[in-house]
Amino acid sequence: MNESRAFCPRCGEPMPDRSASDASDADGTGSDDHRDDVADPLRPGAEVEICDSCYFDDFDFVDAPDRIDVRVCAQCGAVHRGNRWVDVGAEDYTDVAVEEVSEALGVHVDVEDVAWQVEPEQVDQNTIRMHCYFTGVARGTPVEEQVTVPVRIARQTCTRCGRIAGDYYASIVQIRAEKRTPTTEEIDRAKEIANTTVAEMEATGDRNAFVTEMSETDDGLNIRVSTNKIGKKISNKMIQEFGGTVNDAETLVTEDSDGNEVYRVTFAVRLPPYRPGDIIDLVDDDQGPVLVRSARGNLKGTRVRTGERYEASYEEGNAPEARKLGEREDAVETTVVTVEDENAVQVLDPETYQAKTVSRPDYFDPDAETVPALKSRAGLHILPDPDPDSVGDADANEPYDPYANPPEGDESDA
Ligand SMILES: [Zn+2]
Ligand SMILES: [Zn+2]
Repeated sequence: MNESRAFCPRCGEPMPDRSASDASDADGTGSDDHRDDVADPLRPGAEVEICDSCYFDDFDFVDAPDRIDVRVCAQCGAVHRGNRWVDVGAEDYTDVAVEEVSEALGVHVDVEDVAWQVEPEQVDQNTIRMHCYFTGVARGTPVEEQVTVPVRIARQTCTRCGRIAGDYYASIVQIRAEKRTPTTEEIDRAKEIANTTVAEMEATGDRNAFVTEMSETDDGLNIRVSTNKIGKKISNKMIQEFGGTVNDAETLVTEDSDGNEVYRVTFAVRLPPYRPGDIIDLVDDDQGPVLVRSARGNLKGTRVRTGERYEASYEEGNAPEARKLGEREDAVETTVVTVEDENAVQVLDPETYQAKTVSRPDYFDPDAETVPALKSRAGLHILPDPDPDSVGDADANEPYDPYANPPEGDESDA
């Protein structure tokens, strides 16, 4: 039966002596990885080798399509692959064409040491002819092939860009505040959160994340976004930073082509009525005004008459019944005339410049020549020295917080 190995089963020519390469066959299976085995028509199931000449007659080094059509989004450069749009990060259409060609071309599995070069030739605005030159080694013989594949670019609009252009949105975040309008700082922060949330989701490859529109209204800000998930993220982040509550409500908008109901979710964020830095006068309370330190969870602050700590009850939450007297920024530096005793200090009234006795909070520094004081409907009160870093974001964990009372073991703003 040695004859079957000695003659090519296809052309009948004698095969070159193979004993040398069989001897070097390390795995002992008697087959050589460089050799293509084909079925012997006389003995089905058995595999025999054909000669190099027959092998290369059928050999197709490079498998290339006649042409490649690429759909590219003219807005964002995304490329349509399979049944979806993907971001390829291509600089220009030539880049896209090179990438698509390298995806579309195939080389014979037997070829080793494959190398290729491509030379794009811009034929017209939408056609790039790709001249590709391949080299490799098959059956120990160097092989090369040159193929030219025209790439046709079709400029289209991807789903995402189409939705953006069509003002599509799935969710609205309404930023409002209890008994007041949101401040510029809160509005700006909400916009920033919306943009970073979307940017973070885009960075993870989410093509459906975008802000459709942000519009300021008389009572706050409306943010329209492309998915409910983004709406939820933005509203949660807002109340995490500023306190307050969020309620979501679904509205049936339409049915999609499969008859599924499509809902749009509105997230109504209500920021707390008072902000860190506000000075408020609590109703039904005779212990003096409170400088608000935190509005996350229950409202917390400092009594400006004594320096004592204040925290609203669970029932009152962030909205105890109170009147706002002013803000930290309204305080003016006032000259200390004399320290009367443990409970009283004389300062100059910032409006009349007459000496006036006021209560002495425990944060008062007896060596100070001037102190910030707020004159309001509730009288004249000494405020803690401002720390610009903590205004608006006072937190019990901060190393120094003029609004804070000595920390208590179980204190938490969470
Ligand atoms: Zn042959
Ligand atoms: Zn696009």
